[in-house]
Amino acid sequence: MALDPARTVAELRELQELTGDENGAQRVAWTDTWVRAREWLREKLAGLPLELEEDEAANQWWTLRGDSERSVLIGGHIDSVPNGGWLDGCLNVLAGVEVLRRLAEERRPATTVRLVNWADEEGARFGRSLFGSSAAAGSMADQDELRDRRDAEGNALPEVVGRHGVDLDRATEARRQLEGAAAYLELHIEQGPVLESLGLPLGVVLGTFGVERHQVTFRGQAAHAGSTPMDNRRDALAGAAKLELEIREIAKRTGEGAVCTVGGVVTKPGIVTSVVETAECLLDQRHLDAERLAAMLAQAKEASERFAAEEDVEVEWGRIWSIEPILFDEALIELADEAVREVAGQSHRLPSGPLHDAAEVSRAGVPTVMLFVQSLRGLSHTKLSPSTWSSRCARSTRWRRRRSPGSPHSWGAEGPAPGGSLGSARARSPRRRSACPGRSARRSPSAHGRGSSGYRSRCCRSPRRTGRSCASRDTSRR
Ligand SMILES: [Zn+2]
Repeated sequence: MALDPARTVAELRELQELTGDENGAQRVAWTDTWVRAREWLREKLAGLPLELEEDEAANQWWTLRGDSERSVLIGGHIDSVPNGGWLDGCLNVLAGVEVLRRLAEERRPATTVRLVNWADEEGARFGRSLFGSSAAAGSMADQDELRDRRDAEGNALPEVVGRHGVDLDRATEARRQLEGAAAYLELHIEQGPVLESLGLPLGVVLGTFGVERHQVTFRGQAAHAGSTPMDNRRDALAGAAKLELEIREIAKRTGEGAVCTVGGVVTKPGIVTSVVETAECLLDQRHLDAERLAAMLAQAKEASERFAAEEDVEVEWGRIWSIEPILFDEALIELADEAVREVAGQSHRLPSGPLHDAAEVSRAGVPTVMLFVQSLRGLSHTKLSPSTWSSRCARSTRWRRRRSPGSPHSWGAEGPAPGGSLGSARARSPRRRSACPGRSARRSPSAHGRGSSGYRSRCCRSPRRTGRSCASRDTSRR
């Protein structure tokens, strides 16, 4: 039996119909809609010779027994953010469903293959991402904090997850699911503009960025906007403004995909008639290399102190959250590269700005790799992600079986890449690409900001250079 990617697209549409509305996907974890999606998934796999199990963290596991007990895991998440896109997370799951269908039709596989639908990857309801995968990885250590979490309606997390059979104290018992895992594979939409800007349908993910997230507070003196001379002010916003501009230079100097963002500044008293007394900045810095990330943080701190002195204000730092970079398995990266070249002719290695369940599995010591599928305009957490193009493009997409039916990598599409997703081997053809309505007009001219052209030429000249060199130009989500 051949893989039937058209069926996967049809099933993604079916899921969208069942669990979405005019604003997008509504499969927020621990809601009735999410439960409906999970039941739907169970029905899709019913009838195949699979063992189904739900673990202590509400992750769903389907197991196809092979000659070896060692298992290859394929993962994804069917939950979405509110008003989410139709591919984020569920593309992974439904691609895995199709792989299981095919393997189940053949002779008993050499190795056991398991599909996992992780519970609550997005953390949309309680603000805690990677719930199920961190439990299975054994890295969930914030149970005390989780006990105090409430959703927007005031419902406590333990009660809500309890209704779905999860006892927080026992959630990490899901750890046994990773015993005997030889490899973990995850397909995901890129959620960034890199592959689209390169005209490539697929890429291999090197790992996930390390993140340093801090609140930087400048403190000056409130003073009347009319009566305080310009050379006699202690303006906290001046320090914040200088820092915002400086972190862009820090990222640029660091390179290799470095990103720094001031995502918000709150000023007080925040009225038009007063010099700003306090400016609280939210700073997010990301890099695939731990040392470079640490250096970026040190540079930002040094700069903030310099600006504080220049403006005669004070500055104070507080860590909000941080995570180290997580690098995927080198042998699996090579293998994935080979598979992508077989399907698309050319591969590209890139880091992931957003975190994914794969990062948790990798942290648990299971050799892990991810494949990215091109995203249209780099959008994902929005109904705009693909629905603007999808109905027309999906209709015009001709899926085909690839030349070697027996190949383990034998799924690919022919025809216009359906907007960035479900990549096409021919996506590089301008003629074919233009078949996607409005596509060229919608492409972001600033996909890489000022580095756009340099990025492309450097990377394409040496697509096989390892990780760091060609690493890490991506944007971020989480
Ligand atoms: Zn996702």
